[in-house]
Amino acid sequence: MINLHPRAIARAGSASDIDVVLDTARQTGIALAVRGGGHNIAGHGTVDGGLVLDLGALRNVRVDAERREVAVEPGATLADVDRATAVHGLVVPLGVISGTGVAGLTLGGGVGWLTRTGGLSLDNLDAVDVVTPAGEHVHAGAEENAELFWGVRGGGGNFGVVSSFTFRALPLPAAPLGGNLFYRPDNWRNALLAFDAWTRDLPDEMNPIISFVVLPPEFGMGAEPWMVIGVAWVAEDHQPGLELIDRLRAAAPPDGEVVGPTSWPEWQSAMDAVFPKGSRGYWKNVSFSRLDEEVVDAVLGFASELAWEGTGIDIHHLEGAFGRVPEDATAFPNRSARYWLNVYGFWRDAAEDERLTAFARKAYAVMQPFAEQGEYVNFLGAELGVQAPDAARAAYGQDKYRRLVALKDRYDPQNLLRLNHNIAPSAG
Ligand SMILES: Cc1cc2nc3c(=O)[nH]c(=O)nc-3n(C[C@H](O)[C@H](O)[C@H](O)COP(=O)(O)OP(=O)(O)OC[C@H]3O[C@@H](n4cnc5c(N)ncnc54)[C@H](O)[C@@H]3O)c2cc1C
Repeated sequence: MINLHPRAIARAGSASDIDVVLDTARQTGIALAVRGGGHNIAGHGTVDGGLVLDLGALRNVRVDAERREVAVEPGATLADVDRATAVHGLVVPLGVISGTGVAGLTLGGGVGWLTRTGGLSLDNLDAVDVVTPAGEHVHAGAEENAELFWGVRGGGGNFGVVSSFTFRALPLPAAPLGGNLFYRPDNWRNALLAFDAWTRDLPDEMNPIISFVVLPPEFGMGAEPWMVIGVAWVAEDHQPGLELIDRLRAAAPPDGEVVGPTSWPEWQSAMDAVFPKGSRGYWKNVSFSRLDEEVVDAVLGFASELAWEGTGIDIHHLEGAFGRVPEDATAFPNRSARYWLNVYGFWRDAAEDERLTAFARKAYAVMQPFAEQGEYVNFLGAELGVQAPDAARAAYGQDKYRRLVALKDRYDPQNLLRLNHNIAPSAG
């Protein structure tokens, strides 16, 4: 779906290759795309006629178990990190599909099964090493280059190429509790209202995500649409988690369920089959706080049309550790919303592009009356291959955008790094 043809692809064999590629781009003016895990929805990891800096071979993950520090190279996938940390009883909050790149995911946010327990991926960053477009090597953390550290946590790859990410890991229980409660369409309304009541006083250890989806055949769930309430209870003692699931089950009896202990790397790759390589996709997201009768009607208005495999709708419940991070601590927009709705594509047939992108746009439009300011840049799709000029401004909101522009003026006034959700420097 992102069908672009670069003039050249430079595959970095070590971090020092980043300097060579940035030099080349600066001297020749060739358009430069930076690629980590290659999962960017808007296709920012490649460019027509330009140069791609492909960091995909730099996948090393170094764990200092005693200090709970995890140093990650910029081509690592989520699976690389999960595998390296789980053996030490540690975990870094990341996303839910194991082949996604840590780099792009973290620079934009990083939402997944630990968002309530530990916040976004970027909330767990201790420091980054950045090569700026001018060729400077900058270490940024809370104490050093703090403004740049603020900006890279949400501002994407606008200010430099990150050559290393240092995360602070959380303790991982020996076997977290994972569960999926399945609902048929007749029960969606009651389950959504019950879910809203259930989430009012959840402890941070409980991480729920709702999905409306027709699952691919390998899941053995038939060709019908399901609403699935997925939960990850991330604590050694399962009893309080099981009791919470009992409460939800009593208020909204499921039509099927699987609940039990799981291994973290397995849980983190359980949904991979939904997104095989080569899937097409267009995503839209909305953050909001009400899930009352009116909003449930709106959601069901479009969710109940979902009779095909190839589009999913997720509702992430937020708050917890995510919501306690002060709004101005990072460039990531909007910490106050209770929920986040994401309409995402994973279809295979190009003939479906128009119909399914239109569906995502419609769902987005229906949710606008309830939307709060701030969109998640990592869930923004390409608008017909061009960048909507004000997309980044709208996503970050005026105040954060202004602060991000000041950083862009400082680190990339020529906008060498512009294949991203671009913060335009004030020089134009
Ligand atoms: C199947 C699928 C599942 C997903 N699941 C989740 C999820 O659970 N949670 C979530 O939060 N998001 C999720 N996403 C969205 C994901 O976070 C973004 O698509 C993100 O951009 C992917 O990062 P990447 O490194 O793989 O992408 P790439 O396409 O390689 O890079 C994306 C962009 O990030 C920037 N970038 C990459 N590496 C660097 C670097 N080292 N330095 C500076 N800039 C860099 C560049 O601007 C680049 O164009 C998912 C996406 C897909 C396709």
